[in-house]
Amino acid sequence: ALSVRGLHKSYGGTPVLRGVDLDVAPGEVVCFLGPSGGGKSTLLRCVAHLEQPDAGLVAVDDEVVGYEPRAGRLVESSPKRLAMTRRRMGMVFQQFNLFAHLTALENVMLGPVTVLRRDREAVRERSMELLGRVGLAAHAGKRPAQLSGGQQQRVAIARALAMDPSVLLFDEPTSALDPELVGEVLGVMRDLAGQGMTMLVVTHEVGFAVEVGDTVVFLDGGVIEEQGPAKQVLRSPASERTAAFLAHVL
Ligand code: ATP
Ligand code: MG
Repeated sequence: ALSVRGLHKSYGGTPVLRGVDLDVAPGEVVCFLGPSGGGKSTLLRCVAHLEQPDAGLVAVDDEVVGYEPRAGRLVESSPKRLAMTRRRMGMVFQQFNLFAHLTALENVMLGPVTVLRRDREAVRERSMELLGRVGLAAHAGKRPAQLSGGQQQRVAIARALAMDPSVLLFDEPTSALDPELVGEVLGVMRDLAGQGMTMLVVTHEVGFAVEVGDTVVFLDGGVIEEQGPAKQVLRSPASERTAAFLAHVL
């Protein structure tokens, strides 16, 4: 579903990603762990092309974007191609980023209606279905301020799904939530994983990573320090840095 090759990104001369390679199979759930500043958010943003990498390739469903070798040199993908690829990826952030003046339903409908220019009534029907899938059919007419944080995040997930993404990217989706609301969001993510959605998840929820993750990637200092089957990496890490980090968070 997704491959990343040689991704590099610096901010003001400071390297944040120093050559990241990653392959994600259709339906795979990859959980990213690592210390603060290790480059997890930057990696997700570069994969989604919300941020322009300095070098490297991202291929979604075999459609390559970024910098491609062409006639012996690196050529940047066209803006049109970047926009197409961005659409294939749904992003869910720590802050839900819903439009405050729109209802839950309107938030979910906005992308398909305005960006994909789909028929409004068809989009309404499908958006109601998606709100049902995240357990919020009864709250479709409420604005974000009338919803709990966990409900808002579930609307944000429904909104991402409404664009029919090939891959869903989550950046600490439960970190802004009160502890008692974390479970309902992780539950929705678990359901999506069970339905075969391809997901990249930055999370500190090690329990979720063990239970739902197929693969765990430990990112430190802008490189993948270790990756492998979730249970193996989390229970018996090969790298000392991974082990030290896990000892700290577990
Ligand atoms: P956290 O666990 O705290 O969210 P992270 O692994 O997501 O950390 P990043 O947010 O990717 O880490 O940041 C990696 C490094 O890049 C940090 O040193 C950060 O200060 C720097 N950085 C990130 N975004 C920018 C930016 N827009 N401008 C300048 N520096 C940035
Ligand atoms: Mg981050």
